[in-house]
Formats: sequence, structure tokens, C-alpha cells
Amino acid sequence: DVTNAQLVARREAAVPRGVASAAPIYAKYAENAELWDVEGNRYIDFCGGIGVLNTGHRHPKVVDAAKAQEDHYTHTSFQVVPYAPYIELAERLNALAPGDAPKKTLLVTTGAEAVENAVKIARAATGRPGVIAFTGGYHGRTLLTLGMTGKVSPYKKDVGPFPADVFRAPFPSVRDGITVDDAIIGLKNLFLTDAQPSRVAAIIIEPVLGEGGYVPVPFEMMQQLRAICDEHGILLIADEVQAGFGRTGTWFAIEHSGVVPDLITVAKSMAGGYPLAGVIGRADVMDAMDPGGLGGTYGGNPVACAAALAAIDAIENEGLLARSTAMGETLKARLAEIGTRSAPYRFWDIRGLGAMVAVEFVTDFDTAKPDADFTKRVIAHALKRGLLLLSCGMHGNALRIMVPLTASDAVVDEGLAILEAAVQAAVA
Ligand code: PMP
Repeated sequence: DVTNAQLVARREAAVPRGVASAAPIYAKYAENAELWDVEGNRYIDFCGGIGVLNTGHRHPKVVDAAKAQEDHYTHTSFQVVPYAPYIELAERLNALAPGDAPKKTLLVTTGAEAVENAVKIARAATGRPGVIAFTGGYHGRTLLTLGMTGKVSPYKKDVGPFPADVFRAPFPSVRDGITVDDAIIGLKNLFLTDAQPSRVAAIIIEPVLGEGGYVPVPFEMMQQLRAICDEHGILLIADEVQAGFGRTGTWFAIEHSGVVPDLITVAKSMAGGYPLAGVIGRADVMDAMDPGGLGGTYGGNPVACAAALAAIDAIENEGLLARSTAMGETLKARLAEIGTRSAPYRFWDIRGLGAMVAVEFVTDFDTAKPDADFTKRVIAHALKRGLLLLSCGMHGNALRIMVPLTASDAVVDEGLAILEAAVQAAVA
């Protein structure tokens, strides 16, 4: 049988190094919150395919729905011969999205594509070019979405220039001493210095920064953004690609703030492991573009739509929103315990919304200097002990937890025990 080491070597020869992988192991089999590599080693999965598996690896109902769809047709292209699962999913998403206005949904394949299309729709609807995004925001790796992504290394490094008329506003940060008031002043100053508000189509924000460190947008900030958008006729886009579909204990993370966005971008956990993404929005805005302006060969693939309908059913029928809230409380409490017991001066901030939880590691509490190296060591020690973990954050020093919401308490506990052992090993 093939070994991890053999695949590492073949990969180095066959795949560009720009596609990095967090773990030097190769998948063989996975189920719910567990994964086995090609050598038969078992891992508890706290990464969930980067936030894609809120319903776990191969949720039985998701897999059954995809297989049933495969027995009918796998691809026709919605732009050639359309099909019911696309419509059914659009109806479902329109009903789930917050706000009373009638909604429509466009389906595409990746999160970046969803963000690109949200910007196109916002431009067509407003007749304006400008887009405002935030420090630390992550919206994808295509050139427009990279322009919106607010982190240079590794994403934007060496590949500019980026599209014009993308502006950046500050995100509140305890670390940097930026309050909500400071962030709003920064946005208003941006209107004075670079971004004429009547030429801005949209403000896009992740209700919980994902790649940027699992930092929730303070609710009062979201409310002020809504008011500023309304004042200037700007559309508010919530990028829910990572935070949506139950990760934070609600269908969409923005619901916690009570704010209703004009457009929502979705992907990842919507389809339980199949490539599918979308833009959900106010019907009048979504209809701005003429026929033929939206779409793509694979957009809204029927197998992925069938999987998404089953994943949404699973979130609903298995009480995964409530499970997320409860799991978040457990994760935060256990992380606090681990910190106190094993490395009290390093667990600088434990934060998140629902089960979208991260801990930020520092060298010591006095300076609160970010410790990316310690974070890497914890991840490496965890891997050796059978736990898959990923970092995040502007300084690469936050550990995020994306364990499936379907994971049993026993598996979550086992993972947290490994995390504690990894922290102890990294301190030593
Ligand atoms: N937006 C957010 C908030 C994301 O977290 C991501 C992916 N991490 C994207 C957009 C891009 O999605 P994709 O990788 O599917 O293009």
C-alpha cells in the first residue's frame, strides 16, 4: 500500500508548492468527525475540510441524496437544461435568509465565485463601481476577491495589481486598540479621502472574520454599517461562506446582530462536502443583471444541490443550531481550563460565536506578542497524537476549531484531551 511519505514525494514532483497542505498525511477514509490516512492512522478532525463539514464527513443522508441524484443525471448545465433541485434549493435558501423582503438565489461553485458575483450584482443594481472591505477579511483567491481580501501573505504576495475601486476600512481589534468607534471613524474618513460614497456599490463584511482570526463583528458595528449603507444607498453584503449554516448557532452569523443584509454569499457547509456556493439576496437587487450575465458551466451542479438540500435538512432535523451554541460553550470552557492548567500565560484570547471558536496564543501576557511558532508547534504535536487542527489570524497565532456539529461529545472530548497534551508538549 502507498505510504504518506511516498505521496509527499510524488506530490512535490507533480503539484506546485503554492498549494500548501496543513498536514503531511493523505486521506483514505473519513466518517463524521474522524479521518483515517493511507497508513491506517486515525485522526479526530477539528478542521472539517476548512469549515465545510458542519454535518460531518459523509453524512449518511447527504451521501444518499447525492447518490440518488447520480442515478438520474449528474450534469446538464442549468443554462442549457435546467432542473428542479436548483429551484428547490433556491426556494429553501430564500426562506432561510433573514429579512422580510422577497429573495432570489444564484448558485455557483466556489466561495470566491459567490463573492465575485455578489459584487457584479451590486454594481449592476446600483450603477456604481466601488467596494469596501475590511482589514483581515478573507473573500477568496481570484483577482477581484484577492483585492478585497485584507491580508498580504501568503494570498496577495507577488500577484498584484488588483482591480481598482476596492477600498479598505479598519476592523475593530482589541490587539491593535481599534474600537468600534475608531473603525466607524476610519470608514467615514475613507469616504472623505478615497471612496466617494455615491460611487460605492457595496460594503462587504464577514459577520465573524474567518481566516482573519474568528473575530465576531461587534453587533453595534454591524448596526452602524447598516445605517451608513442606508444613508448612502450602498448595499451591505454579508460574506457567510465560513460562518454560515449553523457554525455560529444560527443559520447565518449576521442574525445575531439583528441586521438584515442586502446580499449574502454562501458556500462550504451549505452542501456538506460538495462544491457549491451561492448569492442570496433581495429579489430586486438579484434581478439587476440581464439574462446571460450570471452563471457558469457547473454553477448549481445537481448532485451538489441534492447534497445541500440533505445537509440543510440534517441541520434542521438534528438540532444542529442548538448543538452549535452548546458546543461553543463547552469549547470555550474547556479551552479556558486547558489554558489555566497547561500554559496560563499563552492563552491570550478565547473568542467566537457559537461553535466558531478560536484561541490566540502569545509569548506572554505582558506583551501579548503573537506567537505563530508556538501555534505551529501545537498543531504539529496534535497531528502526531491524532488531532487535525488549523491556525488562522492576521499573525497566524490563532487556533480555530471547526469540528463537525454532528461530532459526539466523546469524540470532541477526546480531541480536546489531545489538544491539551499538544499544548503541554509545545510548552516543554
Ligand atoms: N469567503 C470566506 C469568508 C471564506 O472563508 C472563504 C474560504 N475560506 C471564501 C470566501 C472563498 O471560498 P472558496 O475557497 O470556496 O473560493
